[in-house]
Amino acid sequence: MLVDSHCHLDFPELAEDIEQVLQRMVDNGVVHALCVSVTLENWPRVRDLAARFPNLHCTVGVHPDERDGEEPTVERLVGLAATAKVVAIGETGLDYFRQSGDTDWQRTRFRTHIRAARECGKPLVIHTREAADDTLAIMREERAAEVGGVMHCFTESWPVAESAMEMGFYISFSGIVTFKNALPLKDVARRVPLERLLVETDAPYLAPVPFRGKRNEPGYVQYVARHISDLKGIQYQDIESSTSRNFSDLFRVALSDDSIKS
Ligand SMILES: [Zn+2]
Ligand SMILES: [Zn+2]
Repeated sequence: MLVDSHCHLDFPELAEDIEQVLQRMVDNGVVHALCVSVTLENWPRVRDLAARFPNLHCTVGVHPDERDGEEPTVERLVGLAATAKVVAIGETGLDYFRQSGDTDWQRTRFRTHIRAARECGKPLVIHTREAADDTLAIMREERAAEVGGVMHCFTESWPVAESAMEMGFYISFSGIVTFKNALPLKDVARRVPLERLLVETDAPYLAPVPFRGKRNEPGYVQYVARHISDLKGIQYQDIESSTSRNFSDLFRVALSDDSIKS
């Protein structure tokens, strides 16, 4: 059994045939998925999906690329995080690739999310792109280690992975690790110990090989897991059991084959 630790099932590409998407997920041995929030405007859809399907949980947070919607406060995030099936705060973090000019607002918002996570005692889902140094510095300053979490869709170097793991964070790989040209990232994936490893799709984007460029969905997380088992030269079953256990430990979600029956 496998878990997709990060996807966006509320996005229209997937929401339009959610029942079939979730059926294919189960058919592919993926027993559970975490539906990740990117805006407060869309959050009710994320919450409703988690409420409707036993094998989904969700997060609450505002993505660093989202500028126009409601700006979250600590109180607002903590309030929403008390909703059933909310297991983490995020996705949050820094993204200097998509945003230019003044990025103070991103750093302020990131701090708000870490404070909310510490206040409600839930782990963080962190997105970082071309901003690794600032991301790690803010994690340290705001004591993110108190709650831990995951560096999602990891594309950074080994030293960044190491620093995050020292703060108790997990490292999650997406379909990017299957891309032919992602050689440095494949090396990082080889080195991340099984005890710190998670896998994800980030669907509907970033479909792994052999579906690169197509719509992604949670069932495809098996291709990420298979690729990492090849990179590490270990059994696929070892990736399945480690990543499922890590997911269950981090997000305090009990996984069983029962979650398939739904
Ligand atoms: Zn992200
Ligand atoms: Zn995402």
